[in-house]
Amino acid sequence: MTNLPLGATIGILGGGQLGRMLSVAAARLGYKTHIFEPGTAPAADVAHAITTASYEDTAALTAFGQAVDVITYEFENIPTSALDTLEALAPIHPNRRALATSQDRITEKDFLTGLGLKTAPYANVESAADLEAAIAQLGTPSILKTRRFGYDGKGQLRLKDGDTGAAYAQMNDAPCVLEGFIDFSHEVSVIAARNADGQVSCFDPGENVHKDGILRSTTVPARLGASQRTDAVLMAAQILNALDYVGVMGLELFVTPQGLIVNEIAPRVHNSGHWTQNGCVIDQFEQHIRAITSLPLGDGQRYADVVMENLIGDDMDRLPDLLSAGNAALHLYGKAETKPGRKMGHVNRITPS
Ligand code: AMP
Repeated sequence: MTNLPLGATIGILGGGQLGRMLSVAAARLGYKTHIFEPGTAPAADVAHAITTASYEDTAALTAFGQAVDVITYEFENIPTSALDTLEALAPIHPNRRALATSQDRITEKDFLTGLGLKTAPYANVESAADLEAAIAQLGTPSILKTRRFGYDGKGQLRLKDGDTGAAYAQMNDAPCVLEGFIDFSHEVSVIAARNADGQVSCFDPGENVHKDGILRSTTVPARLGASQRTDAVLMAAQILNALDYVGVMGLELFVTPQGLIVNEIAPRVHNSGHWTQNGCVIDQFEQHIRAITSLPLGDGQRYADVVMENLIGDDMDRLPDLLSAGNAALHLYGKAETKPGRKMGHVNRITPS
């Protein structure tokens, strides 16, 4: 596959911190980025161009598509109509099948179980009666999630003993999935890349800690036995190949005594891969840019032990300490306003491994 020429422009849908860090990586490789973002865009500070428009604005989408050589995205909830407009104008990586698979929790689980991978047991729920039947099938505790548009634990309801189908009233009539509760010991994720030549490279799995549904920290190495580590990486490669995937993907896994269970896939660079910025020579952002521009994938080996901690809301008050800490690399997103629950930056603390 011939690579995108130097100086070409990569269009990025979404201008948050992921788009920002992708833009920095693209610039390092001699590419420009053009951000499409309806709201404020931390990525605009480091990009060549920005379009501020809604995903319903066909004229803006068309102009954007004509101005770029390849299109990628930093979040998965892109309206289908926007993709319909864009795909006639420039190649989109990762492809639409990957996006459609990850946009809907049932489609995703059907795909994963079809590959022979284990997920939480699940049932479709579109009414109180469905939920009643799903509770009878899967029991409680269990988790009711919207099928689409969930992130950082949003759109989720934990059901406990005694809860009934009436709980569906809290989901605003959204199509949902009920998931059986997985009694996991810890959560890990694999950040994996594939380019159009089928070359695959996976970063070492990281161990994730969430609080209130939001990722707090990722630690590498994760607590995994050698065979589990191999299993995790092979699962990621299997998913990438099955989707004919081009780009970086995040695969979240629950570690249980019965083995690894897939929680979800994210068709993009992933918060739990931020440790690669200081633990590897080539980080997840550069690996993604290499994949979508048909460059060879880089060396994804891990050269340090890393603890990545997200800086959320008031964590920004700790900046003076973090700036003077010896082994800590600070990555700030340039967001103007600090709000509770808002990801403002992250810090990677390293020790040589
Ligand atoms: P999600 O948005 O699906 O990634 O869920 C957010 C977090 O909720 C996960 O990282 C887990 O900590 C927890 N969680 C999600 N699904 C389940 C499940 N089926 N069983 C137990 N915990 C879950």
